[in-house]
Amino acid sequence: MQQHILCSKCQNKHSVYFRQYSGEYLCRSCFIFSIEEKTCRTISKFSMVNYGDKIAVGVSGGKDSLSLLLVLKHLFERKKTNDIIAITIDEGIAGYRDESLKIVKEFCSRLNIKNEIFSYKELFGMDMDESMSMRPSEKMTSCSICGTFRRRAIDIATDYVGANVIATGHNLDDQLQSFMINVISGDINRIGWTYPEPIYYGTKKIKKIKPFIEIYEREIVFYALQQNIPFQSEQCPYQNESIRSEIREFFNSLEENRSGVKYNTYNSILKISKILKNMDNSLKNKCNICGHESTRPICSVCNNLKILKND
Ligand SMILES: [Zn+2]
Ligand SMILES: [Zn+2]
Repeated sequence: MQQHILCSKCQNKHSVYFRQYSGEYLCRSCFIFSIEEKTCRTISKFSMVNYGDKIAVGVSGGKDSLSLLLVLKHLFERKKTNDIIAITIDEGIAGYRDESLKIVKEFCSRLNIKNEIFSYKELFGMDMDESMSMRPSEKMTSCSICGTFRRRAIDIATDYVGANVIATGHNLDDQLQSFMINVISGDINRIGWTYPEPIYYGTKKIKKIKPFIEIYEREIVFYALQQNIPFQSEQCPYQNESIRSEIREFFNSLEENRSGVKYNTYNSILKISKILKNMDNSLKNKCNICGHESTRPICSVCNNLKILKND
């Protein structure tokens, strides 16, 4: 692709990537630099990381989280200001998770980063395969059970490894999809929570950050390819054709003929979520069962466990 066109940045090497929204042709090294620099700017724009923060990176084995681990390694290794540790959640899905656990383990040892694994089974007393067989109806979707458990598992893991920052690989496309899902389901409080400036959770004041929030998904994929980051080939057997994938396709088709449309939408969402974040006091409430922050008297994790255990 574009082999004959020179890089618009360095005017020196052949371009390998055309960035449609800016009209730039980029060579491999200028492309990689642009992604790492953009991540760095996002981190400082939203004060995501302070000097001395210990960063736990939630690494699933997918392209986003492995790329994030590499970018953070490059950004913080240079400065030697922050420790990084990779945490991986084992949902307990037979035949699926094993491959990614292996990929993560090998990638972390290549980067010389410690990898800790936490399982649903040890944290919640049941794994995904069990909870799927225990759910009372198909209205409880696999992704909603898994997503709720995963967020809590990451909180517990971060605390356990003594980190005060949890970084996840969510990108700009994920942000657009989450916003639309919240709008469609009427979950307006949640929109405020998605503002990228970190909220401090719990007594230990853990910050959740998304350093790739201003980067298109396709650019993360391209970064992963350029950096020879391994890909997981197995698909999650419980993955259902959710509304999320329809929204993803919708924005991709808009972007095709109107480049920059995703950025514009992202910037609008940024303004809306900031206003809602400042209006929202729901994070001050606590779950009656586990004491975790919750918008409702019983948090979604405890609620799911109650339904699954039928008590
Ligand atoms: Zn270049
Ligand atoms: Zn709870």
